[in-house]
Amino acid sequence: MKDADLTTIYGQIFNSTIVAISITDPEGNYINVNPAWSEYLGYTAAEAMEISVTDVTPIEDRIHSQMNFSRLVNRKIPSIRTTRRYLRKDGQVFWADLHVTALFDKDGEVSCTLGLFVNIDPQKKAEQNLEETNSQLTLANIDLQEALEQLRIMARKDPLTNLYNRRVLEEVIEREIKRSFRSKRGLSVAIGDIDDFKHVNDTYGHDCGDKALIELSQVLRKQIRASDTVGRWGGEEFLFILPETTLEGAMVVIERIRKAVSEMRIDCCGNEINFTMSLGLSYQIEDPQRDTIVTEADKALYRAKQDGKNRAYSYQELEF
Ligand code: GH3
Ligand code: MG
Ligand code: MG
Repeated sequence: MKDADLTTIYGQIFNSTIVAISITDPEGNYINVNPAWSEYLGYTAAEAMEISVTDVTPIEDRIHSQMNFSRLVNRKIPSIRTTRRYLRKDGQVFWADLHVTALFDKDGEVSCTLGLFVNIDPQKKAEQNLEETNSQLTLANIDLQEALEQLRIMARKDPLTNLYNRRVLEEVIEREIKRSFRSKRGLSVAIGDIDDFKHVNDTYGHDCGDKALIELSQVLRKQIRASDTVGRWGGEEFLFILPETTLEGAMVVIERIRKAVSEMRIDCCGNEINFTMSLGLSYQIEDPQRDTIVTEADKALYRAKQDGKNRAYSYQELEF
């Protein structure tokens, strides 16, 4: 191929390629730019001759860009391959993938630089959107985990007293029955029911009744060991699960509970409220049964109510 043909071919490539091509002097002033460059940056070829690389670089990126450029023309680096931002004539900024090399004269001095870039703004924006969406998702996930944890707690606790609810108590009874069966150690379940609580509500109002239930719950918690469980079985009924006990040991605990409740004084709207609690307990060993242990405790409680309330009875010590 003749030189003239080649020149024509190079000229056509320069003019028709979608790659932006620019040539600058060693100071970064534009000497030549192709139509793709003009299209991306908004400067005509004639306007480009009046500006330098700095003019098409966003202000915050200029120091970095100038450092790289001077390292190239001072032959500290052979080329620049970078993803960078460009500032268009109309002020818009876009991302580009850039490759710059130095061109040398016959004495081996840098005569100019050749810059080639393609616009990667759509890809970069998509990447940034993805990152943003990812971090939003991470945050949303943290919120969700917290909400789930809250829900888990709420599903296990009675909202008024913050004690375990009946569902959890049922689970604990099942678990402790199995454990007691394996260990051959006794298991006690007790139910406590406030005496004449309807009277408290009727006399002082429902809100004072609620306050009494809250303060009572704190007192009940303090009377048991860490390995014992207390929860709200129903309205003003509380259930205790006392694993690895003897009947005598369990009776000491529920008698202590009875006494502590009778000594409580609740202040509500200037009124001093006090009440008592009746308790019924069942103690089983060897092969404890879920159904009988709870109904026996209930029967002992019923007997305590019949006998005048403010009493702690065990089914095993009563005659039926
Ligand atoms: P007894 O000695 O026979 O147990 O009499 P009692 O009045 O305690 O029994 P009863 O079953 O007749 O009444 C229970 C009362 O407990 C009635 C109900 O309004 C009250 N109660 C149950 N749950 C709550 C609650 O969450 N808040 C309040 N304020 N009162 C409650
Ligand atoms: Mg009741
Ligand atoms: Mg009651």
